[in-house]
Amino acid sequence: MWYAIVLGGGAGTRMGAGVNKVLLPLRGIPVIRRSVEIMARHADGIAVVCPDAERPLFEDALRGVDREILYASAGETRQTSVRNGLCALPDACDYVMIHDGARCLADDGTILAVKRGAEAQGAAAASTPCVDTVKTVDAQGIAVGTPDRSALRCVQTPQAFRRDLIVRAHEAARRDGFVGTDDASLAERIGIPVLLTEGSRRNIKLTTPEDLAVAGTYLENENPLPDLRIGSGYDVHRLVSGRKLILCGVVIPHETGLDGHSDADAAVHALMDAMLGAAALGDIGRHFPDSDERYRGISSMKLLDRVCALLREHGLRVANADVTIVAQRPKLASFIPAMRRNLAEAMDLPPDRVNVKATTTERLGFEGEEKGISAQAVVLLTRV
Ligand code: MG
Repeated sequence: MWYAIVLGGGAGTRMGAGVNKVLLPLRGIPVIRRSVEIMARHADGIAVVCPDAERPLFEDALRGVDREILYASAGETRQTSVRNGLCALPDACDYVMIHDGARCLADDGTILAVKRGAEAQGAAAASTPCVDTVKTVDAQGIAVGTPDRSALRCVQTPQAFRRDLIVRAHEAARRDGFVGTDDASLAERIGIPVLLTEGSRRNIKLTTPEDLAVAGTYLENENPLPDLRIGSGYDVHRLVSGRKLILCGVVIPHETGLDGHSDADAAVHALMDAMLGAAALGDIGRHFPDSDERYRGISSMKLLDRVCALLREHGLRVANADVTIVAQRPKLASFIPAMRRNLAEAMDLPPDRVNVKATTTERLGFEGEEKGISAQAVVLLTRV
C-alpha cells in the first residue's frame, strides 16, 4: 500500500501572513487541501504532519477529503517532522511518498514518475534540470567555482521510498546526528541509490506572497471553467392504500400513498440522488440503507437536511434544482408552491432557484395506470 506524508509544519515566517502558510487560501481552497487532494489521488492514505496547536484548523481545511487521513505532530525540524510522519504509518504501508504541503501544484505526471521510480529502484525524487548557472562562493561572496550544470538537478518533492529503506535512512541520520535538507540525502548517505525522475517547473514551493500570486496564475490558466457539477436523480415508488402521499415534504390528500421504508417521498429521493451524484458521493442507498431501522418511516426532508450538510462538508452547495414529478393523479398543481418553498428552505436557497413541475403520462405506463409515481431531478452544484 502507498501512503503519503504531507508536511504542514513550517512556520512560514517568510510569507508574513501571521498564519501557517499552508492554511492560506489559494483561489478559495486552502493550500494544504490542494496538496493533500492531489496526493490522495495516488495514495491509499495520507499522514498529515502539523503543529498540535493548529490541528483543528487542519482538520477543518481537510474535512471531507476522500481518503484516510492520519495526523502526526510537527517536530523542531523538517527531519523530525518526517520521522513523526513515518511513525504514524500503519503496518500495511510498504511504500511512502514524502511531500511538502506548500507544493500544491504537483501534477499527476510528476507523482506517477516518482512512484514508478521507487517501485523499480527503492527510492526516487522528483527533479528538474538546472536552468541557471550555479556558482560556489567563498565567505566574501567571491565565485570560486562553476559546476557543469548538465550534471546538476534541482530536487523537489514528492520523494518516494520503499518504507523500510527510508525508515532505515532516518534512523541512521538520527544516530549520526546528520541533518539533511531533504529525505533523499538521508538515503544517499547510507548507500541507497536514489533515482531522479522528471518533475515539473510549475511544482513550486509556496514560500513568499509572490509565489501565491504565481500559483494563482497557473491555476487560472489551467482551469478557466468554474467548478460546476451537474447531477441527475430518478426514483419510483409504488402507490398502495393505507399510506400517506407525501411529495417534497407536502402531505397530499389522496386515496393511496407511496409505499417504502421511509416516507417514500420519491421527489425528495430523486433530488437527493441528483445532489449526491453531482458531488460524486454515490447515492442515497449508500448513505441511508433501507436495511437500517433508523430510517424506517423517517421524513425524507430530514434526510435532505443531512445531504445538504454532507455537501457543505465537501465545500459544495446547490446552485439550482429542477424536480419533475410524474403522476396521473392526483392533480398536483395547487401543491407546487408549498413544495418549492419546502425544498428551497431545506437547501437554503431563494425560491427562484428551485423548480418543481408535475406531468402525467397520458395514462401510459405504470404512472398512467396509477400503480406508482416517479420523479426525476437535475441539480447544479458550485463550490462554496
Ligand atoms: Mg426512493
